[in-house]
Formats: sequence, structure tokens, C-alpha cells
Amino acid sequence: MKKHQSLIALACTLALALSVPVVGRGEEKAKKDDKPAASADPMYSVSCSSPCEFTVRSHDKAELVAAIKAHAKSHHKMDMSDKDVEAMIKVKEAKKN
Ligand SMILES: [Zn+2]
Repeated sequence: MKKHQSLIALACTLALALSVPVVGRGEEKAKKDDKPAASADPMYSVSCSSPCEFTVRSHDKAELVAAIKAHAKSHHKMDMSDKDVEAMIKVKEAKKN
């Protein structure tokens, strides 16, 4: 009997130990979602000049440049430099209420 009880206790301890990292992850995610208002950042956009109508919009300029470079390479077999892409970027300032 005693052996059986200690097994249950062990199971409870394991369940507790396992639940801790899950809670930790949840908090981390909540923090990430709590970014300072992204809508206040200017919106960058680039439209591909080819008839493919590829357009990327992002608040993150580096992400935008990377996306366009990847598109140009895979769809047009073009190697674009950061400068080439930046020359195509249109900036739309965030609207202030
Ligand atoms: Zn394109």
C-alpha cells in the first residue's frame, strides 16, 4: 500500500514540475505580444516593378529588404543589394490621431 501511495505522490510531483515550464512559456509569449504600439511606426512597402505584382509591407525595414531580395532572387533570378531595395522602398508615416 505504502509503495502505491508514494507512486501517486511522485506522479503529482512530476505533473507540477512539468507544468512550470508551460506557465513560463505563456508569460514569455504575453510579453512579446505586449510590444510598444507597432502602429506608431512608419509602414514600409515595396512593390516589385515586374508584372508579378509582388508587394511587401512591414514596419521592419530589415525584414522588408530581406523579403524583396529573396523574392527577386527566386522569381526573377536577380541579385539585389540592400541599396537597390532601399531605393524602391516607400515610407508611409503612421497616422496620428
Ligand atoms: Zn517580382
